[in-house]
Amino acid sequence: MSAVSTEPTPSPLPVRPQEGPHRSKDEDRRKAGLKNGGKHDNDSITRPHPKPSFPTPKLRLSTLDLDHPGSNVFFSNWNPSKALSEAVDVVLSLLYQPTKNNHHIPACRSVTLFLQGMGGVAYTTGSDLDIDHKEIHFSLDYINGIPPARQKDEIQGVLVHEMVHCWQWNAVGTAPGGLIEGIADFVRLKAGLSPPHWKKEGGGQWDAGYQHTGYFLEWIESACGEDSVRKINLALKDKKYEEDGFWEQLFGKKVTLLWKEYEGSLFKEQKMVMKIQDEGENRSKSHETDWDDDIEMNGEGKKDSRFEGDGPVAKDRLNENRA
Ligand SMILES: [Zn+2]
Repeated sequence: MSAVSTEPTPSPLPVRPQEGPHRSKDEDRRKAGLKNGGKHDNDSITRPHPKPSFPTPKLRLSTLDLDHPGSNVFFSNWNPSKALSEAVDVVLSLLYQPTKNNHHIPACRSVTLFLQGMGGVAYTTGSDLDIDHKEIHFSLDYINGIPPARQKDEIQGVLVHEMVHCWQWNAVGTAPGGLIEGIADFVRLKAGLSPPHWKKEGGGQWDAGYQHTGYFLEWIESACGEDSVRKINLALKDKKYEEDGFWEQLFGKKVTLLWKEYEGSLFKEQKMVMKIQDEGENRSKSHETDWDDDIEMNGEGKKDSRFEGDGPVAKDRLNENRA
């Protein structure tokens, strides 16, 4: 309570809020900032921590032969500024989780795409001056030979594969080439850009590379956890690759055992597909037979049991396949 004054009462003035322990300096600064045209100084508010995001390299394009028919195919299908950054995004998000400092991601300050007449499909390399500047060289002859219906997806698919090489770890140059290429095709597969001729296949070595290993890595993700390929890539960061111990440490099993389990899963998958196909065929044969029987038996509709269930036809085909 305040003391009663005997002085004349002045006209009322706007009441100013009083400084008090309940108001923080931040609040005062915020109010001051808002008076200033609603703009905040950098330190006028307590901002939430920004979400970690991926690095953004400089992206460049160099077309070495505009007269080449492949250049026309390329530019009719592909928007360089959009598609190149989309390729970076999909590759980084499939290989890494962003952190505050992104120290777990290789330095890559720029990527330059060179379109040029050459044999083969494409390759990736560090620039002569600085390995942090990457170059992707893409063959215009190859681009020109892609069937029209496949041009857009094939161009982006190859680019995503090559972009993986800009960002993946390689165990200081000691990782098996097939694993490096397998990770690149795994990312292409997960990006929804696998070409129609790719197929899962057992047999041979796990590290034969490309889609052969890419599908194996996809199976590892389903059997050992969603982040498996990210873990494999990060395990290739600093140390030299030693097959003994590498896979056991990550998944508790040797890679040869994982490969056998993968082959087993393919066999089961194939068996299932054949069973469904055979049941479909048998059902249609059964309907034909019903139709015949209906005619012969004058509408009694008796089924022919020879075609029901997992019959001998399915087993014979399975054995042929295994041999
Ligand atoms: Zn490659």
